[in-house]
Amino acid sequence: MVQSETPRRAALVTGGARGIGRAACLALATGGMDIAVNYAGSAAAAEQTAADCRALGVQAVALQADVRRPEACKQLVEDAAAAFGRLDVLVNNAGVTADKLLLQMTEADFDAVIETNLKGAFFCTKAAARLMMRQRYGRIISVSSVVGLHGNAGQANYAASKAGLIGLMKSVAKEYASRGVTANTVAPGFITTDMTAAMPEAARAAANAAIPMGKPGRPEDVAAAIAFLAGERAGYITGQLLCIDGGMGM
Ligand code: NAP
Repeated sequence: MVQSETPRRAALVTGGARGIGRAACLALATGGMDIAVNYAGSAAAAEQTAADCRALGVQAVALQADVRRPEACKQLVEDAAAAFGRLDVLVNNAGVTADKLLLQMTEADFDAVIETNLKGAFFCTKAAARLMMRQRYGRIISVSSVVGLHGNAGQANYAASKAGLIGLMKSVAKEYASRGVTANTVAPGFITTDMTAAMPEAARAAANAAIPMGKPGRPEDVAAAIAFLAGERAGYITGQLLCIDGGMGM
């Protein structure tokens, strides 16, 4: 019997221009996937990430979309699928912070973080699941945080959004398990990116002190876990949460 060839896979990474998202694009491209690099404002960085993916021998495009807008997410998923003829992997990576102690946190601070981190993932997942379900194959991975598991003073909005992602992925996992679509979550700890560079030095020192490995992670450490969950061989893993945190969340 002639074995059917595995099709070339295609992935969409939200917030793929910088930091963890960029590293995820490169890790997936290294594994032979075509890549749609989503960005909100970082057009030049997104084009650079796409060019770096192409240099690895795959196709890659940069696609602008603000994940806070449902229509933009729908269009983004359609454009990614149109670019490569299919969409096999969605990485919900786009995220923001607006840290304040609870009593100082306004409704706008709360909404801004929930809209990007949680609702953005909901909109993209909904659009992608529709395609993946028909395809009978898909891998959805959301980038949560150890803060979503343990909470963090000054990050009630962020922690709520990241905890929400875990419930979102588990629910999607249950709804689409029978269609060959998996949904998993990664929870990075303290990773060196623009997001953590913006923290005060004392807060960064405190975070490092809380890591048994004694050092921050690299975007590539998170990307390796994303690439694993996005691969064919992770097909029997769904609804799971994988911490990439140097032991921080133990
Ligand atoms: P980063 O360097 O600040 O990158 C954030 C990314 O999110 C950027 O690519 C940005 O795109 C994108 N983004 C923000 N708002 C968006 C929107 N409305 N629509 C589309 N994209 C949007 O942060 P990072 O550290 O790589 O974070 C990536 C993810 O990992 C986030 O979800 C973050 O919460 C999570 N995480 C990070 C850490 C850490 O220690 N760094 C720990 C745990 C979890 P533009 O540049 O185009 O605006």
